[in-house]
Amino acid sequence: MIAANLTHIKEHIGQCALACGRSPQEVQLVAVTKNVAASAVREAIAAGHHLFGENYLQEAQQKIAELGKEASFHFIGHLQSNKAKIAAELFDVVETVDSLKIAAALSRHLVGLQRNLKILIQVNIGAEESKSGTHPEATEQVLREIRDLPNIKAVGLMTIPPMSSDMEDARPYFRKMRELADHLSSLELFAAGEKIELSMGMSDDYPVAIAEGATIVRIGTAIFGPRSIAPTLAHKP
Ligand SMILES: *Cc1c(COP(=O)(O)O)cnc(C)c1O
Repeated sequence: MIAANLTHIKEHIGQCALACGRSPQEVQLVAVTKNVAASAVREAIAAGHHLFGENYLQEAQQKIAELGKEASFHFIGHLQSNKAKIAAELFDVVETVDSLKIAAALSRHLVGLQRNLKILIQVNIGAEESKSGTHPEATEQVLREIRDLPNIKAVGLMTIPPMSSDMEDARPYFRKMRELADHLSSLELFAAGEKIELSMGMSDDYPVAIAEGATIVRIGTAIFGPRSIAPTLAHKP
């Protein structure tokens, strides 16, 4: 089931890219494994997929200890600065940096660990009360504040647009993200020499996100099924 879902989603990502004149290679799939059992992640690895996204540090710690040599993990959850050390140890990319405080905490631990980390700035593109992320207008300032911190490289932006049952509602937000990334790139605020990433699009809206320029889509439900039941029950081998 997981292997078939992955094949289908990857094909569709490629079609979406081609349909808007982009190369399928420009769009990476982060398979989101929050509340998904390690056995299901292993199934995805066996099917040839090696890039995953986790929201919760404790849960990620166990899975990465078990599977980290065979796969790469992005952190996509809310990060508190007192947990920055764990995140600095575990992940290849942290997509959800939204303040100098978090970035500085990561940087300090990375120096101690002699490790480098790519980060994305999470932007609260709908300026919603309930969401983490920088206000769109404050993103430039945050990038300026963190640019000289050692061992972290800001390579792009990430967002979750306001919820809606119609994916077309997300299009203007995705477009604003693309414009913001282009603007910040023109100011040379991303790490030099790195591909600029735009992480946006989930199970319900990734076709629109790809059409508007996503380079990373984060997809969980469409690969692993609904998360409403306990993972051990949801993913019997
Ligand atoms: C859960 C989650 C996803 C995946 O959502 P689906 O709707 O299951 O595809 C993507 N991004 C973030 C930040 C998430 O928390």
